[in-house]
Amino acid sequence: MKILVTAGPTREFLDPVRFLSNRSTGKMGYAIAEAAVARGHETVLVSGPVSLAPPAGVRVRRIVSAQDMLEAVRDELDAADVLVMAAAVADWRPAAVSGEKLKKRSNGGGAFQAADGRATLALVATPDILATLRPLKGRRTFVGFAAETGDPQEEAGRKLRQKGLDLIVANDVSRPDAGFEVDTNAVVFLAPDAAPEALPLLSKREVARRLVERIEQMRGGAQNG
Ligand code: C5P
Repeated sequence: MKILVTAGPTREFLDPVRFLSNRSTGKMGYAIAEAAVARGHETVLVSGPVSLAPPAGVRVRRIVSAQDMLEAVRDELDAADVLVMAAAVADWRPAAVSGEKLKKRSNGGGAFQAADGRATLALVATPDILATLRPLKGRRTFVGFAAETGDPQEEAGRKLRQKGLDLIVANDVSRPDAGFEVDTNAVVFLAPDAAPEALPLLSKREVARRLVERIEQMRGGAQNG
């Protein structure tokens, strides 16, 4: 199979030195790319800014913003059988990007206004990559992630249906041993018309291997080609 994986955070700049982002380190997505290559799949990784070394045998495309990630994924999707969106895409970006470093006091136009010890930053939604590319899905398998702090299964189930996904990997990021920045994860695989599959606490590497196996099963057991 040809697998396209996204990983890491995106950065949404407001001026040349400041951005909005999140705690994603890219570990889960990089582990998926590594597992996919290890199982013989041609793998492309679209990665936000992270400090991880690219896995051997994976073609890596580095991007910065959600918009960049959308464009890179759109480019690569044509040749892919599977899209795994493990990236923590920022949901909001500043409504305008200043070409100059913003001053502590700013009353001019733009997204940032500050005076008298208070500031406001106007934000607009970034593109939802899975939703935008849904019309191009065809026979491809689309896999999403849902990092939740509430009931992960309930929220993830909603996203599975709303985004028309084949599989969603739900995890509770409020646990100290799962989610962001750690090497372990506790996830549940949710698919339409299948019972939830809750995995125990595992290394991200092992979660990745099981995810790639599950995708192989969903696509009819094909491991190569
Ligand atoms: O952020 P959220 O929990 O909605 O993410 C669910 C899934 O949607 C993830 O797989 C994520 O990579 C993807 N996503 C996306 N475009 C966004 C935000 C999230 O494709 N703008």
